[in-house]
Amino acid sequence: MSPRNDEKKRVDAYIGLGANLGHRRDAIGRAIDAIGALPDIDVAAISDLYETPARFVEDQPDFINAAAHLTTSLSPHDLLDTLLAIEHAMGRKRQCERLEKGPRVIDLDILFYADRVIDDEGLTIPHPDLHNRRFVLEPLCDIAPEFVHPTLGKTVALLLETLGSASPK
Ligand code: ADP
Ligand code: MG
Repeated sequence: MSPRNDEKKRVDAYIGLGANLGHRRDAIGRAIDAIGALPDIDVAAISDLYETPARFVEDQPDFINAAAHLTTSLSPHDLLDTLLAIEHAMGRKRQCERLEKGPRVIDLDILFYADRVIDDEGLTIPHPDLHNRRFVLEPLCDIAPEFVHPTLGKTVALLLETLGSASPK
């Protein structure tokens, strides 16, 4: 049976979630609830929560990190705008966060959008450097171990294995 014209095609997208201010686990849960409440997005799977020391700017609270598998009819840019609006609604105030990579109530990043490769000024997919980040790969491996990175050609499980115990990231 062919899909009706008004049924928009849904694609798989994977996002990373991070929080290191306030009630960090609650923030991850509230973000997932907000995303799942939207008509154009379904939450298909959620990883375990991982506690990770902050990187880049180390003098800040530890992060809780997670990943989620979404299915969505939104375009990549509309998905980004939606995630940024949720960050904003949850009280993330970029202008007050003097430090880039500093503490945040919630950080929502698009890791993969199907096998799309995008490199625009405001949107890079796959998320750059995800293959070097244990705090991204570990939760992602819970929900998408066999997903193949569209430019590196390796599965998430292999990328995590390759990172190895040598990397504290
Ligand atoms: P980071 O997540 O790198 O710590 P921010 O959350 O402050 O930084 O994001 C800054 C900007 O990164 C966003 O406004 C967005 O335009 C851009 N960006 C580029 N690619 C992505 C992506 N794949 N997912 C989320 N944001 C992205
Ligand atoms: Mg971000």
